[in-house]
Amino acid sequence: MRTHLLAPTSWLLGLLALGACGAASTPPDELAEPTLVGISYTLKVDASLTRANVRACFDGPAPDRLIAPAPAAELLVDARSDDGAPLLRGDVLDLSRLAPGECARWEIDLARAAWGRDVVRRGGEALVPPGLLLWRPAGVIPARVRVELPPGLHASAPWLDDERDDGVESRDDSREPSELSTDALAVPGNLAFVRAEPLRFSESGTDVEVAIFDGSLAVTRDGIERWLRAAIRAVDTFGDGFPVERLHVVVIPSGPGWRPVAFGLVRRGGGPSVMLLVHDEIPEEALVRDWTATHELSHLAMPRMYEEDRWISEGLATYFQEILRARGGLISEDDAWAAIASGFERGRVVGSGRTLWREARDMMRTGAFRRVYWAGTAWALEADLALRRRGHTLDGVLAASRARWSTREVWHGRDLLAECDRLLGEPVLLPLAERYGAQEEFPDTDALLRSIGVSFGARDLELADDAPLAELRRAIVAPPTR
Ligand SMILES: [Zn+2]
Repeated sequence: MRTHLLAPTSWLLGLLALGACGAASTPPDELAEPTLVGISYTLKVDASLTRANVRACFDGPAPDRLIAPAPAAELLVDARSDDGAPLLRGDVLDLSRLAPGECARWEIDLARAAWGRDVVRRGGEALVPPGLLLWRPAGVIPARVRVELPPGLHASAPWLDDERDDGVESRDDSREPSELSTDALAVPGNLAFVRAEPLRFSESGTDVEVAIFDGSLAVTRDGIERWLRAAIRAVDTFGDGFPVERLHVVVIPSGPGWRPVAFGLVRRGGGPSVMLLVHDEIPEEALVRDWTATHELSHLAMPRMYEEDRWISEGLATYFQEILRARGGLISEDDAWAAIASGFERGRVVGSGRTLWREARDMMRTGAFRRVYWAGTAWALEADLALRRRGHTLDGVLAASRARWSTREVWHGRDLLAECDRLLGEPVLLPLAERYGAQEEFPDTDALLRSIGVSFGARDLELADDAPLAELRRAIVAPPTR
């Protein structure tokens, strides 16, 4: 995610306020409630998407209360037990007086939700974090969700089962319940209500569902599929392959603009989901060459990290957006190094004199995105070179670390890199990160690029094959042989 945006609308500004690519400020830290064994939600929305109605019933005793992130309490029109007792107390739903077997029900003002930063609601379609609708117990328990829709509306989320394959004609108003865990609701996620049947395909071993908002996109549905397939194939050249088995994508037309994609954001609640805001008149070829989808998908190859670690997470995603596109044949080797070299030039001229850790933490206030992203990219390149001199690769080590983290938990960058160093058997990534993170100035990327034979000549980028590390440079962008 980078933020040279055009004509930002209020909901777009709201998304920006969320932080880069869904960086988390607080980790989930809940314990299971041992007595509660399950919760069944029925979620119903009206045709105009102004109201959502939820009923929650419990297997076994009800929990004492249900919680939801702000501003869920402000969006409640009403919340009552089956026999009509009001449930909202402060900002929780108090279930302590619910009789055995009794359910809770509440109504949500979706139109009002769209005033906030979390919900996109346009022209009878909406994108909502499911945690805002489905109030949950504090514990981690299995949940079943049945979504009931008016005719002509489709619901799409990473955890919603595709109803096509059950041998029965698709009937969106009576789809079978889908299963997820209530802790998935604690992590921001994407639940889309769209008019068009979601696009579904399989690419590089990954099942993909794409919810496409209505609009005036020049690119066709087939073009969107080819674009996303190309990006997935590029990211499939990472380490041991594409990092997730199931991928959810939301494509939202974002009006006129010269850049192919205005904004991208990864959310992980209930499974990985990437939102991409596409400018209307952008042709398919420009989307296929664009970096944004590859960048967002690269985030899925690492865990969520804290705000101060954004120079690591965004540095890695920015590095991989260039080299994976080169590996996947979407751009040339020259294009990739030119993008990295010019990114360094743009990153060098911004910054507030803070250390890189602090700059990353304060990035939304200082606006020093380019310094954070591109100084992080310089670290990623130097880290990759250090690893390759030892016979490893940066993407290989990150792929090997995947067994140690889940997609939902939030990691400290230092802990992740220490874990990678443990896998390597020697400290490589963390000491380099400590050095970069403490720097108040932009790193010396000229020396770094010279070492791999990358320089700007009179007009164009020049690649020298007699540089000390030119062979490693070529290996970095070479497609894997597997
Ligand atoms: Zn990012």
